Formats: sequence, C-alpha cells, structure tokens
Amino acid sequence: MADFRIGHGYDVHRLTEQRKLILGGVEIPHTLGLLGHSDADVLTHAIMDAMLGALALGDIGQHFPDTDPRYAGADSLQLLFHVNGLIQAKGWQIGNIDATILAQAPKLAPYIPRMRKQLAQKLGCALDQISVKATTEEHLGFTGAQQGMAAHAVVLLSRIPKPMYRRPVGRVIPL
Ligand code: MG
Repeated sequence: MADFRIGHGYDVHRLTEQRKLILGGVEIPHTLGLLGHSDADVLTHAIMDAMLGALALGDIGQHFPDTDPRYAGADSLQLLFHVNGLIQAKGWQIGNIDATILAQAPKLAPYIPRMRKQLAQKLGCALDQISVKATTEEHLGFTGAQQGMAAHAVVLLSRIPKPMYRRPVGRVIPL
C-alpha cells in the first residue's frame, strides 16, 4: 500500500453583479462576485475536489449536491472542514496543497496571505503546507473577459502514521 496519494481539482464559477466575491474564505471587495448555489468560493471548491480525488471519493457535486437546500449559500470553508474529516477518517492527512486562481481582476496578491491562513486553520495545517497563487490569462478566454474565474488545485495526502509501541530493546511493534 502506497503512503502517498495525489489529487487534482478544477472549478469554474461565473462572475455576476450583486454577488460577493469570496476566495479561500476571504471576502474581496469587487464590483462582481461569483455565482453559485453555495458561496461559490471557486478556490476552496478546487481544493476540496483535489482532496476527494486523491482518494477516489468522487467530487463535491456528489457530496454537496447543488439541488440540496442545505447547501444554499453554504460557507465553503465549512464544507472543506467536512471533506478534511472524511479523508482523516480514511487514515489520510494533508501533505501539501498548491492552488492557482485564474482571474483577470481584481489584483488578488494582497488577499492571498489571508486565504492561506484561513485554509490552513480550517484544515489544521501549517501555513507552509498551503500555497495559493493567482494569475491572469492575459485578457484571453472567459477569465480574461471577466465572465468568470477558475481555480486549479493539487494536493498530496500522506498516510496518518499508526501509533507505535517501542519496546525497551528497540523493536517497534505496530499496535
Ligand atoms: Mg464550484
């Protein structure tokens, strides 16, 4: 049995007026926000899909259907906490996450430290396990036209070590 699993997640949400822009749990002042059944946090959605994908547990559409009124306006960080519990229950923990947001505007760099902090806190990780980056697509495509935002994430999971009992003679016995 391997000690590591890797997962990839990708998500897109449409930009529209009269919606909040929430990325990595951080509300960002902007004229447009992301449209969705939940808070439409495209970054957190990509991260959850990567975590689920690493263990072949399906995707967030299966776990949190957008037809379910319980998830209307849902705080995606709470969903992330739930997904983290699922992977921990299966004996896995986050090694590291690397994510990229694709957005033409606004400038996201000032908000990235807070996104990393929120995600790390919710996942019980150290800050240096969580990388968030942002790029424009040079005015190309739907992100360039500010019709939407997208996010990619990759996650590495490692097996949670089993508790060990160390005999005085030095042999390690798995409990
Ligand atoms: Mg989504």
